[in-house]
Amino acid sequence: MKSLWNDEEAGHFQSELALRAYTSRLLGGEKALVMYGGGNTSVKLQENGEDILYVKGSGADLAHVTEKDFAPVRLAAVRPLIEREAMSNAEMGAQFRAALTNPQAPRPSIETVLHAILPFKWVEHTHADAVLAVANTDHGERHIRAAFGDAVVIVPYHHSGFELAKACHDVFRREATASTIGMVLMHHGIFAFGDSARESYERMIALVTRAEDYLKSRGAWDIPLRFPPTQPASSQDMLAIAALRRDISHAAGFPLVMTLSSDLMSLAFARRPDLESLSQRGPATPQHAVFTKRVPMLGRDVAAFTAAYRRYLAENAPEQAERLPDTAPRIVLDPEWGLISAGITAFYADAAAEIYRHSMKIQSRAEALEAYASLPPREVLAAEIEYGGFEEKVRRSHPLAGQVVLVADALARQSEVAALLAQGAAVIGLDRDAAVETLFDQIGFLGIVSDPGDLRQSEAALANGVRAFGGIDRLLGGDALLQEMCRPLLALSPLQSE
Ligand SMILES: [Zn+2]
Repeated sequence: MKSLWNDEEAGHFQSELALRAYTSRLLGGEKALVMYGGGNTSVKLQENGEDILYVKGSGADLAHVTEKDFAPVRLAAVRPLIEREAMSNAEMGAQFRAALTNPQAPRPSIETVLHAILPFKWVEHTHADAVLAVANTDHGERHIRAAFGDAVVIVPYHHSGFELAKACHDVFRREATASTIGMVLMHHGIFAFGDSARESYERMIALVTRAEDYLKSRGAWDIPLRFPPTQPASSQDMLAIAALRRDISHAAGFPLVMTLSSDLMSLAFARRPDLESLSQRGPATPQHAVFTKRVPMLGRDVAAFTAAYRRYLAENAPEQAERLPDTAPRIVLDPEWGLISAGITAFYADAAAEIYRHSMKIQSRAEALEAYASLPPREVLAAEIEYGGFEEKVRRSHPLAGQVVLVADALARQSEVAALLAQGAAVIGLDRDAAVETLFDQIGFLGIVSDPGDLRQSEAALANGVRAFGGIDRLLGGDALLQEMCRPLLALSPLQSE
């Protein structure tokens, strides 16, 4: 992995906090390091004679952070928290709020204590794919040691938050030496630290490169893509796709958008002879399960998947759990279709697919290195419960979340389309004018050039729409021909009665 540090660019940033935001964005722009709000960074500064820890706010995406996304907390208030025996996340949140020098600042990251106790000015944390591929193996610690030597200390898996900070504190105090430039968190990710913005950032890149080189030197980097791509979906497939979306939505209890990715890597993975074993061991890191569920569904039998997921919940749910996840899959692997992802909106379906694409690489490489290993199911479910619940929030604020609307003559209906998108719907917009393709620059909108009188064009447009969003729940406008063509798809909408 290459350092993207650029002296000229860095020279534009006058303050250390601005530099902190700059190198955070360098990390965040690399999806092989962090995805969808994962990872966090910090810098310790002196202000008015006080030591202040600026740590990334919870939920902010590293790829786009600016100075105002960092929360300033008094080090003297948060560092001593580590001496406590135990602390709930709620108690920790209250302590962080009290330690903020600016009450308007964002909520400090759940890993604030961990950043506070590391005796370095600059700290970076990512979930690097290459590190996970080395760590998530049957003898993960041995491989990490072989890859990194004494450059890192190794911390066994702990749930994010206070428990993890405690574990890291213990290991660091016991094992860190003058050579230590990072810390590997098994089944989770990696920390790097340093005395300048550049040193700290480039140590992260150097450590990830060592993991990549380790995989390469053991023939575990290149993922063989043995299979030719399949043909685009036929109309037969279109109905099968829509039926699958209906079944998955019914299992979830609400409509979901479903996206097909028949790229080479997904098809090759979905056709691995060892798929049933490899794909069912669990996620690369428990937080991924919030978007992808613990395991993908293989094939198209939704009832069998939900029955198995119900058993997983029954066997692993903590007694005090109030809210359990639904039992519908979010990832499906199918030898014909490749990777299918479901989400509460097109954005989340896409996020699930992106995360799973990284999982496929991690699992393939770990398996080539030795044997891919995940965590026990109860650890995964604990993360699913703790970080879940976002779909409910999206549904409350977006009444059309999960629904797919086909809009004919979309350019003339631009304001209607905007309203649908704002309410969370995915929209397939058809128009004979090519301007439809760029009408809305967002993931929930697919603009397709299609002449209403042209049967072939309309068929192709429908097929593309179904591959992008999984089906059609409603048709806006359109002539008799288009209405007739949509009828079988509309009949498979999850909004039709069960
Ligand atoms: Zn993390």
